Amino acid sequence: MNFHIAIDGPVAAGKGTISRLVAERLGYLYVDTGAMYRMTALLAINAGVDPKDEDTVAKLVENSKMEMRTPSENEKDGRLSTIFLDGEDVSWKIRTEKVSLGASSVAQLPKVRKILVKKQQEIAKGQSVIMEGRDITYRVLPDADLKIFLTGSDVVRTKRRLTQLQAKGEDVTFEEVLRDLIKRDKQDMTRSTDPLKIVDDAIVIDTSDLSIQQVVEIIVSKAKIMIEKKNNA
Ligand code: C5P
Repeated sequence: MNFHIAIDGPVAAGKGTISRLVAERLGYLYVDTGAMYRMTALLAINAGVDPKDEDTVAKLVENSKMEMRTPSENEKDGRLSTIFLDGEDVSWKIRTEKVSLGASSVAQLPKVRKILVKKQQEIAKGQSVIMEGRDITYRVLPDADLKIFLTGSDVVRTKRRLTQLQAKGEDVTFEEVLRDLIKRDKQDMTRSTDPLKIVDDAIVIDTSDLSIQQVVEIIVSKAKIMIEKKNNA
């Protein structure tokens, strides 16, 4: 029996960290779909292509090889997944602010979304996964067993993102990070194809005043009840 957990939410709501921990607790595969949009942005940047040039960007994605796996022992440097683009480890290269904004830009291209959604659905086929992104609960895994929308206040999310970026040595201020976060959220929520939204059957969790461990517990305990029900059905 396979069990699918779909998680959506805005920038820095804690989706990655929380999904990784839930995946470890349940023994499921963790899939970071944002990494695919980030790799797409990196492809465009490296090729000197305008991120709004739909056909060219879509072709770059079609001709690329995107791979993701759980970090091995010697890769445990704080990353949540090990990400390969055409055989190169880009796990950290895709985490800069430049790539973040590029990802949000290429994510507006319907042809790119179509290719990536198909790749994501293929990964989920035949195995239990916890997959996070912006359109997982209604586009990628509309029949997911458990749907979660993770959110948090702008200030809390900006502080988290700032800490992550500063830990990597990026020279950014609170104001800059807040501005980029608001810009990305707005782009994600207002784009015409598959915008970020809360579906009726999703459980909304505001992470502002909760610890990571508390959120993980909420999701794991809900999942366990549902897994048991599904097993006994
Ligand atoms: O989740 P993360 O911040 O890494 O995602 C980077 C960008 O990719 C998001 O800002 C969003 O524009 C896009 N994205 C998306 N759909 C997904 C995952 C990410 O549009 N399922």
